[in-house]
Amino acid sequence: MIVSAKEMLEKAVEGHYGVGQFNINNLEWTKAILLTCEELKSPAILGVSEGAGKYMGGFKVVAAMVKAMDESLGITVPIALHLDHGTYEGAKACIEAGFSSIMFDGSSLPIDENVAKAKELVEICHSKGISIECEVGGIGGEEDGVVSSGECADPEEAAQVAGLGVDMLAAGIGNIHGKYPDNWAGLQFDVLEKIQEKTGKLPLVLHGGSGIPDEQVKKAIGLGVAKVNVNTECQLAFAAATRKYIEEGKDLEGKGFDPRKLLAPGTEAIKDVVRDRIACFGSANKA
Ligand SMILES: [Zn+2]
Repeated sequence: MIVSAKEMLEKAVEGHYGVGQFNINNLEWTKAILLTCEELKSPAILGVSEGAGKYMGGFKVVAAMVKAMDESLGITVPIALHLDHGTYEGAKACIEAGFSSIMFDGSSLPIDENVAKAKELVEICHSKGISIECEVGGIGGEEDGVVSSGECADPEEAAQVAGLGVDMLAAGIGNIHGKYPDNWAGLQFDVLEKIQEKTGKLPLVLHGGSGIPDEQVKKAIGLGVAKVNVNTECQLAFAAATRKYIEEGKDLEGKGFDPRKLLAPGTEAIKDVVRDRIACFGSANKA
């Protein structure tokens, strides 16, 4: 069932668990995530970056595919179709295309411009029953040209954006997108606590969820994080399983070249990652 992310995240805050945002890249990704969430009776958010949307043929294609697949596979758990790190223009295009949730990432803009654009998009989204995530910029993250900690948001700015009525807020607490450096300083829980104090029960979002130790993810969930983004882990698992299939020469045996066979191990590997993350976030049987 395709729904906005609002209610599932409010329930997550109340129940002290996290909902995974799993980014999709194609049909196999979508199917693997939907089936696994149904199997575990977990709510979930399908994330679509602007690049992935373009890759799949446009946001309208994505929305049509996700809605049709959700229906055809008989998915009963709540699923949000969410734009990930949207620009102002991208957000408008996804609202138009029928997404149930969007993220407007104005974190690189001056705070006043971020606030003004976020305010406008919040109004449009809410008039259509669409949930919206916004992000505040951060500082730090690099010392002497070495990235050992991610950026941290200013709790006052977080409160300002939260006050616009956004449904979820992304604020840096030392997290990083992609691969974490070996000398990473870890999540800054003191910053998270200050942001949580200023934003109350607003669901907070942890980006760059791939590579943060489970104990830190769980602690963050206990401090108000209700949405955790997962992307790189699924990509690595898919690539490793596909590599293994080909290196073992299975594509050369019989009809092993059939894409339905060739892509099957990677698809199963994505399912394993999703099961593992749902177990960590505690969202099984919360649908
Ligand atoms: Zn992100």
